[in-house]
Amino acid sequence: MSARRERSHWGWGWADKWLDRDARAGMGAQVGAMLGFEGLSPEEPAPLDAIELAAPRVDAPEIDAPITAEPAARIRHTYGKSYRDLVRGFAGDYGAAPDLVALPESEEQVARILAWASEARVAVIPFGGGTSVVGGVEAALDRDHRAVLSLDLTRMDRVLEIEESSMSARIQAGARGPRLEEQLAERGLTLRFFPQSFEHSTLGGWIATRAGGHFATVYTHIDDLTLATRTLTPRGPMETRRLPGSGAGPSPDRMVLGSEGTLGVITEGWMQIRPRPTFRATASVRFDDYDKAVHAVRALSQSGLHPSNCRLLDSREAALSFVANDGSSVLVLGFESADHPLEPWMERALELAEDHGGECPDGATYGTAGEKASGGAAGTWKQAFIEAPYLQNTMVSLGVIADTFETAIPWDRFEALHTAVIRNVRDAMKRACGRGSISCRFTHVYPSGPAPYYTFLAPARRGAELEQWAEIKKAASDTLIAHGATITHHHAVGRTHKPWYEAQRPALFGDALAAAKRTLDPKGVMNPGCLI
Ligand SMILES: Cc1cc2nc3c(=O)[nH]c(=O)nc-3n(C[C@H](O)[C@H](O)[C@H](O)COP(=O)(O)OP(=O)(O)OC[C@H]3O[C@@H](n4cnc5c(N)ncnc54)[C@H](O)[C@@H]3O)c2cc1C
Repeated sequence: MSARRERSHWGWGWADKWLDRDARAGMGAQVGAMLGFEGLSPEEPAPLDAIELAAPRVDAPEIDAPITAEPAARIRHTYGKSYRDLVRGFAGDYGAAPDLVALPESEEQVARILAWASEARVAVIPFGGGTSVVGGVEAALDRDHRAVLSLDLTRMDRVLEIEESSMSARIQAGARGPRLEEQLAERGLTLRFFPQSFEHSTLGGWIATRAGGHFATVYTHIDDLTLATRTLTPRGPMETRRLPGSGAGPSPDRMVLGSEGTLGVITEGWMQIRPRPTFRATASVRFDDYDKAVHAVRALSQSGLHPSNCRLLDSREAALSFVANDGSSVLVLGFESADHPLEPWMERALELAEDHGGECPDGATYGTAGEKASGGAAGTWKQAFIEAPYLQNTMVSLGVIADTFETAIPWDRFEALHTAVIRNVRDAMKRACGRGSISCRFTHVYPSGPAPYYTFLAPARRGAELEQWAEIKKAASDTLIAHGATITHHHAVGRTHKPWYEAQRPALFGDALAAAKRTLDPKGVMNPGCLI
């Protein structure tokens, strides 16, 4: 039998993908040369067995549910996977570890845990894959609670029911991406929801954070694929009807979507599934002029063609992903269908791109079931996309601040926002770190505007990197809010974005949300300090 593959206790992904010292040093030399950062040399993370934890503040209760205070479990449930989490985990700082970790296997066990926690004044943090990048799973203790319990849903990971005539599946919330897809694949079906964190994140986490997935247009958020939800609140279950549509008042699913563990534990969702695609088409289009590329994407977003992939990489992003190194911006385009060949759609999309100065000298690649249609620049981009989070682990060890932020903005305000973001983040990196680099890609596009996604890299001062990072992050977030953009398109609010979320949402809506929380969670034990 093969050994069980371990996840990294501090960084992104599988532990066996952690590069050795020489490989990281080589990467440091490469990044240093590309960005002009000097003296990058790799350090080692604190080993799991050297991490010291405070004693738990409560004993595990004697209820029928698996609950542990074992140190390794507490360490693995302390943080999500933001840059800030990685830095603290790397340094062995686990002061925020939860006191207990529960691994329920059934709704009955979840209900028992919530009843005990409400009585015992213990904060409960629902934990899916723990890939939050906004402090959504961090066990911050406040004065109203005696202790913190992390509630890991990943043992509830089955596809319970498939209703093929409506293309719907009832899926447990703890299913991670691959587990969920492997069960649907047995019937030739798929959810086709592939966030970059797909391998390690869960359906419940996606619903709780309104995650953004595979499709660059139309079905971008998990919201678009959620037909019904079942949530266990401290007051009892709340289950919605599976309906193709409904005009009956405000939608209860809409309240659960994005609730970030503050109202209850999502245990199941009825999801819109589809046949696996048989036809695929990809192409990459180069532009000398970024503004023209933006106009091309706008035309595409309003054309009704609905490409499944429509990611515009600016010249820096194209260089960092090894897609182009000649100063051009690159549009990665894709179409897919389980029903029809895609030539007419792709040809029209390329025409639109060419109308705006785009060039696609190699033409499009077409593939049918079993064949890949993502060679060339599209394939290179996809590989870089999958590996990027591992690169962030390496950057932390090299002392490079490496983080991303994302937003959405109407087309008419994009240019002003983009100019301000680039200027203000560059200024902040200069102040905090002496220099830095920022790049942009569109992750999703709508007829009314794009969702730009920014990556920044700057040389850190060891030991001061979190203050340096905070200065850059604040400059970015202030700029988004000042220009009428959203503080997040798909990374959620958590604890990190809360001040800017409060500036973004109407104050009265905040009061209504707090009132809903008091109704569903009267003792306030569900993920306190997050979102609300
Ligand atoms: C490298 C990387 C790439 C990423 N790429 C994407 C991307 O492409 N698209 C995207 O949208 N996001 C992305 N993210 C962010 C993150 O993966 C998403 O927010 C994801 O939805 C979190 O899922 P999770 O299962 O890991 O949830 P967790 O991180 O465990 O939890 C996230 C929040 O949801 C709550 N929660 C989790 N499960 C439940 C439940 N069953 N019931 C109630 N509340 C629950 C938690 O309390 C917490 O507030 C990325 C993150 C990383 C580190």
